[in-house]
Amino acid sequence: MIIYCKRCTMGCELKVNESNGNISVEGNLCKKGAAYGKEEILKEERVLTFKLPIKNGYFNKIHVKTSCEISKELWEKVYELVYSLELEAPIEVGEVILENILGTGIKLVSERKIDRES
Ligand code: SF4
Repeated sequence: MIIYCKRCTMGCELKVNESNGNISVEGNLCKKGAAYGKEEILKEERVLTFKLPIKNGYFNKIHVKTSCEISKELWEKVYELVYSLELEAPIEVGEVILENILGTGIKLVSERKIDRES
């Protein structure tokens, strides 16, 4: 699972895996990131964050997140759904990208404004 570290503004992309009770974290530039990844994957609910490709934008990736915490049993399906999306600029900060994710009533919203590439 990809988790973006929120312990500092670097926002490292952490690859966090849990298998047979062992948790591995890759991509962290410091120990705080390893601890953050472990804490997050052990939660029963969390706000899921993503960095998705976006077409025709000034930047080619956009940060999006779920509007509320989502139960752990849905994480895999949400990841599959969100990573299948095809986004195109412009997108406003706070814009709803996806309504009612998997019937939960939870939205997927943009964390940034991405203008169209001129
Ligand atoms: S892993 Fe360390 S450097 Fe990277 S975002 Fe987390 S706290 Fe910052």
